[in-house]
Amino acid sequence: MDAKLICTNCDEVYEQETKTFRCTKCDEPLELELVTNAKINEGNVLEQNILGRYSEFYPYLDNNVDISLGEGFTSLIKSNFLTNKIGIKGVYFKNEGENPTWSFKDRGTITGVTRAINLGFKGIGTVSTGNMAASVSAYGAKAKIDTIILVKEEIADEKLKPIAVYGSKLVKVRGDYGKLYLESIKLGYENGFYFINSDSPFRVEGYKTIAFEIFEQLNHNIPDYVIVPTSAGGDIRGIEKGFRELKACGLTEKAPKIIAVQAAGCAPIATAFKNGREKIERFSNPHTIAHAIENPYPPSGNQVLRMIKKNGGIAVDVDDDEIINAQKLLAEEGIFGQPASVTSLAALIKLKEEKYLLEDDIVVNIVTASGLKFTSALDKHDLNAITIDIDNLKDIIKKEE
Ligand SMILES: [Zn+2]
Repeated sequence: MDAKLICTNCDEVYEQETKTFRCTKCDEPLELELVTNAKINEGNVLEQNILGRYSEFYPYLDNNVDISLGEGFTSLIKSNFLTNKIGIKGVYFKNEGENPTWSFKDRGTITGVTRAINLGFKGIGTVSTGNMAASVSAYGAKAKIDTIILVKEEIADEKLKPIAVYGSKLVKVRGDYGKLYLESIKLGYENGFYFINSDSPFRVEGYKTIAFEIFEQLNHNIPDYVIVPTSAGGDIRGIEKGFRELKACGLTEKAPKIIAVQAAGCAPIATAFKNGREKIERFSNPHTIAHAIENPYPPSGNQVLRMIKKNGGIAVDVDDDEIINAQKLLAEEGIFGQPASVTSLAALIKLKEEKYLLEDDIVVNIVTASGLKFTSALDKHDLNAITIDIDNLKDIIKKEE
């Protein structure tokens, strides 16, 4: 069964993907047709992968390809400490740092690569300098398929090597990095390389599994809010669609409100939302410690605005100080997220102070990637060890007086 795609803006229907994955009439992103008749498969979850357990939500993917690396099924951790401290009924963290390449991207990569193989493409590719590049490289390696990763020319070695280690073809590209997004998809499609960029329809589909898992982990309940760090817009679109499908399939009665959070130093979506605009504008001079969500002109920005309006959620921004504070606070609960990942907690704190979130609310924060992905952020914290002479050990390890 082939996939029907629908324009998120003008509702134009496409029987197949367009070469750019966007609407040829209005240039806005396409989305897979809503699944309205599916249930979650039963069986031993330890023997399943996400595409197996949720296969009925993927009627257009042939999952008979052996490329799973154990993505998904990440923990949903309730923080009693933060529930009390923030004064809210339930504060949960969906720890996406537990994925095979330590970020949520793996969920969208497996659906994207599966699609590429189903369509008979000889290779895959992506444009990224961070989490998505590592993810596509890893799955390219597992699938034994030609993999091209396009990165910015000035990428630091520290970022390049964790991508290169998987053996993909890494290409530093000189010129307008923004233009690469569309050029790569189009050139790739014409030449046998399926580019799985940030918000390509089959990547977005993978992120639905975050919604399905939250639903199962809350014992078939759904939270009041889900807060999602937002850059290109792929992750938040997938999560929202997952909840929309659970509702359309009659498995839930309502969907949670979705909150998009961006870093104040690069907040094209939150700014447009604040100003009541229907379209994003390119954010000038982006600068934030949350590099992983620093996208000045997100390709799904307009769609995130439309989606939030329909869903009833909001878009907010948090500054770097709030991000650093949230990173430390979350680490003190045992979860170490990269700066972009903890914007969700920073937003939670802010929105409770502003009385948007109330005492009775249950809120899930998406922690998008591991803190080990970006250790330079540790310099922002006051982290010191004390030094003692071994003979004085008893001064440190002693009975309470
Ligand atoms: Zn359109």
